[in-house]
Amino acid sequence: MSFGSLGLCDALLKSVSEQGYTTPSPIQTEAIPVVLSQRDVMAVAHTGTGKTAGFTLPMIQLLSGGPSPQAQYVRALVITPTRELAAQVAESVQNYSRHMNIRSAALFGGVRIEPQIAQLQGGLDVLIATPGRLIDLYNQQAINFEQLEILVLDEADRMLDLGFVDDIRRIQMLLPSQRQTLMFSATFSTEIQSLAGGMLNNPLLIEMAATNSTVDTVKQIMHPVDKARKSEVLIHLIRKNKWPQVLVFSRTKKGADSLVGELGNAGISADSIHANRTQHARTRALAGFRNGNVVVLVATDIAARGIDVNQLPCVVNFNLPYVAEDYVHRIGRTGRAGNVGLAVSLFSEDESKQLQAIERVIGRQFAGDIIPGFAPSKKAKAGSSDDEEYGHFEPDPKPQRRGQSRKKIKRDRFVLDD
Ligand code: AMP
Repeated sequence: MSFGSLGLCDALLKSVSEQGYTTPSPIQTEAIPVVLSQRDVMAVAHTGTGKTAGFTLPMIQLLSGGPSPQAQYVRALVITPTRELAAQVAESVQNYSRHMNIRSAALFGGVRIEPQIAQLQGGLDVLIATPGRLIDLYNQQAINFEQLEILVLDEADRMLDLGFVDDIRRIQMLLPSQRQTLMFSATFSTEIQSLAGGMLNNPLLIEMAATNSTVDTVKQIMHPVDKARKSEVLIHLIRKNKWPQVLVFSRTKKGADSLVGELGNAGISADSIHANRTQHARTRALAGFRNGNVVVLVATDIAARGIDVNQLPCVVNFNLPYVAEDYVHRIGRTGRAGNVGLAVSLFSEDESKQLQAIERVIGRQFAGDIIPGFAPSKKAKAGSSDDEEYGHFEPDPKPQRRGQSRKKIKRDRFVLDD
């Protein structure tokens, strides 16, 4: 299968080949012709599958035939849960439409609204926005949806996680009912089905491989370690493996910052990205990571959601996530679009509950790999051979902790976006 056989025009085929893509991914093969036929689509697909090109390429083609937008009018609206993802999608739209006359912009919170209002004055073919800022712009009468042709909801499951459902429904009321709607989600939960039911018109359902098969392109390693030695272990692994670029997940914002400090003291350039950092600091950290000045980017789960760095070789779970599905999202940052990736998890004995939950979600048990010189001092010693399984760890005796932390994560998420 080639991009040429999907019905894309020459200008788009040129941009695709300039991006270095030779073969469409499965989601692109399925979605592109259907979107071009102007049918609604409900696609269940993870980040890393090439879903962004799956909707942006045909969307640009559909828009390219029509008249330019008038002042304040928007012809296609892409709603994303996070600012990083909005910027990412906008970059894709700009890259793919470089040989065409398409005006696009990403507008999100955390930066001044006035320049965004001015940007809308010229009208936009494609607006990529986060829900909060979009509503603000509408309330300030900076935007007009009367000529909207296409609506895309990207990472709809994450929007629900972040509590944006009311915003989404509100935005829907502002849009013309005659439009094409595309919804992308990593899961197809009952909540997503109900949201889709109210927004899509006779959609074609495209379901890509389930969660755990995405994970198959990623080599997963679990190192049992003492909690207090995790930073030391991470520094050791970075030096020993000479990782040029590694994304590290920290459960807390404070933990992320202190890890950046420890890495810096060890002479490893590191930066962090989380909700307490300004948009400017987040953009700078991401740019440094992309251009290679920052070797280690330490991120909290939600901040990392929109990060898309081509061929990220390695991700490290400094802490195991409380929400097992986040593990899948985390390791989906590597091994993208057919590249083999490496996901390393540092597991301390207090995380056995999280480990069990992750093993349930991915449907396999981890073999422990003890690092010479860093064998854990307590129970984890039982995993002394490379193939030892972790099934024997005792469950966390304080189940309450998990609930409390879950709440904390939720709060974290609510403060992040606009
Ligand atoms: P996405 O799932 O949209 O976040 O895309 C994941 C990554 O795959 C991005 O870095 C894209 O640039 C890359 N990508 C998308 N489509 C292709 C393709 N057909 N061939 C190679 N890489 C691709």
